[in-house]
Parts: sequence; structure tokens; C-alpha cells
Amino acid sequence: MKSISPKITLAIFSVLFAFIVSCIIYCYSDSLSFSIYAFLISLSTSLVILFFVNVLIVKKITSLINTVKKFRTQSDDAFVNNEFRTNEMSLLHSEIFAWAEERKNEIERLKKLEVYRKEFLGNVSHELKTPIFNIQGYVLTLLDGGLEDETINRDYLQRAERSIDRMITIIDDLEAISQLETGELQIEPERFDIVALAKDVVEAQELKATNKGIILTVQNDEKPIFVYADRFRIRQVIVNLIVNSIKYGKQNGETKIRIYDMGENVSVEVVDNGLGIEDKHLPRLFERFYRVDKSRSREQGGTGLGLAIVKHIIEAHYQTISVMSTVGVGTVFSFTLKKAI
Ligand code: ADP
Repeated sequence: MKSISPKITLAIFSVLFAFIVSCIIYCYSDSLSFSIYAFLISLSTSLVILFFVNVLIVKKITSLINTVKKFRTQSDDAFVNNEFRTNEMSLLHSEIFAWAEERKNEIERLKKLEVYRKEFLGNVSHELKTPIFNIQGYVLTLLDGGLEDETINRDYLQRAERSIDRMITIIDDLEAISQLETGELQIEPERFDIVALAKDVVEAQELKATNKGIILTVQNDEKPIFVYADRFRIRQVIVNLIVNSIKYGKQNGETKIRIYDMGENVSVEVVDNGLGIEDKHLPRLFERFYRVDKSRSREQGGTGLGLAIVKHIIEAHYQTISVMSTVGVGTVFSFTLKKAI
């Protein structure tokens, strides 16, 4: 409901005041013309007084409105401007209300960020701890005489090197995710054949797959399908999904890449017949450091960041990625890309 503006309230008040004064004067003087004069004089006097008071109040309120507006980030929002323009008090009220709402949202956002920051730092230090302690163990053993022991010196150095490689993988993934999250990493779209890219990735990962007896294939590969996307980043997405399908695939299994022309978009599916994932894990699968089986992931050299990176890349293209899985049957990751003309 709209409230009455202070100006109208003051005008009504002045008329009422003048009417009461003229009624009193009429009662005492019994003269109609005298009371009409009294009505006009008191009306104009009260109007003049109230006008100046109103000007002063409105000035103060306007300055308050401007001060509150200065502290608001969206000071031109439609809610404040359209709904309550008629009166200064309501405008001030809605400005303060909007300002308080903004502050509340900001505090909630900061609280969430703080929780995320703590979790993130905890996860990073936890991930780095294992390889660092391993390296420390190997180096100390070597210093304690192991260096002269031909049976272990080379082996321990190789193990230390593997731990260093693991740290490099973690740091590379962390760097990628932080660049994607801060928007530092710009998507550079170009027109390219997604079928050719998929075949290229399959070829590059063939050795890794063959070691586990897994067959990699690209289906619907008869004709090229052109998309408009960042070729390098989409390659990274397909590599991550294929590598996961090998890591969590079963011995002598199969991974297929299926590509569909959907008119405006192109859909890419990476389908495996591996371990599968329980339904309860699916909603959190794309979170940083989320793993279904922590020890298995680490054993396979996983950082828990692969799918988070994949999701960021697809979202930076304004596209979507989803997952469907059945334990013991397999997993399907599917994402869309913009089709190029
Ligand atoms: P990681 O480095 O641990 O592989 P990801 O972010 O790539 O991290 O994947 C997160 C988790 O999702 C993995 O730890 C694994 O448990 C599960 N996962 C990913 N891809 C598959 C898949 N194709 N089949 C079964 N589980 C998978």
C-alpha cells in the first residue's frame, strides 16, 4: 500500500487547522465573514510555516538518502526507484532496507568465502604433505648411509622423483583452477573439428589404456563436426575424462567418445564400463578435492581437482556438463559445445 506523502499530510493538516480556528472564531464572534478571513489567514500562515519546515525536513531526508545511496553497490535498482518514488520518507525507508539487505548478503558471501578458504587451505596442505614427507623420508635414509648402499640408493632417488612429480601435478592443477576461478585464464574460442580432436586425444592416451587392456574408440567419426570453443582447453577436458575412465575403469574394459550434432549445439559423451559411482556422490563430484575413494584416487595419481577443472572450463564456455552412473555398469560424462557454422 502506498503511504501518503508528507506534503499532502501537511496540506490536510493546514486545512484542518484553519477550519478549527475559523470555527472557534465563528462561535465567539458570530460573524461569517470574519471567520472566513480567519480561515484564510490561518490557512496561509500554517501553509507558509509548514512549507518551510517541510523544506528543511525534506532537505535532511534527501541528504540522508544520498548518503545511504553512496554506501550501496546497486544504488540504481528498480525496486527503490519505481515503487517508492512518491515520498521521501518511503524512499529513505526503502534505501535503508535495500542497504541492510545488501550488507546481509555481503556478510553471508564473506562467511561462505571464509569457510571455502579454510577448507581449500586444509585440502592443499593435506595433499602436499604426503609427497613432502615421502621425499623427506627418502632423503634422510640416503643421508643416513643409504647413499652408499647400492641396493637402495637409486631406487630411493627414483621414488623421491615420483613424489616430486606428484607435487608438480598438484601444483599445476591448483594453478589451473585458481586461474579459472579468478578469470585470469581467458577462453580463446576458434572453429575446429571436435571429431578430429577426440581422435587425437584417443591416440595420445592409447598406451595408458592398453596397459590396462582398455579399448578407446570414437564413435560417429565418419564426418567432421565443427564447434566454436577453446581448442586447447577442450582438449584438456577430454583428456581428463578419458584418463579418469582409464583410472577408474575395469581391466579389459572399454571407453567410447560419442559426438552428436544437436542443431545449435554439439553434445560430447565419454562413456565407460568401469566401476561406476554411487548416486550419493554424484551431486558433489565436480567439487574441488572431492573423491569417491580417496586412497584409490591417490594410488592412481589423482589430485581430486580434475573434474573441478573440467567443470570450470565448460562453464567458461557458457555450456553445461553432467554425469550419469551406475555402480558396476559404468559412467557417462556428457557436455555441450556451441556448434560452429
Ligand atoms: P581424481 O584426481 O581423484 O581423479 P577427479 O576430480 O578427476 O579427481 O575425480 C573425482 C572423483 O570422481 C575421483 O576421485 C573418482 O572417485 C570419481 N570418478 C571420476 N571419474 C570417474 C569414472 N569415470 N568412473 C568412476 N569414478 C570416477
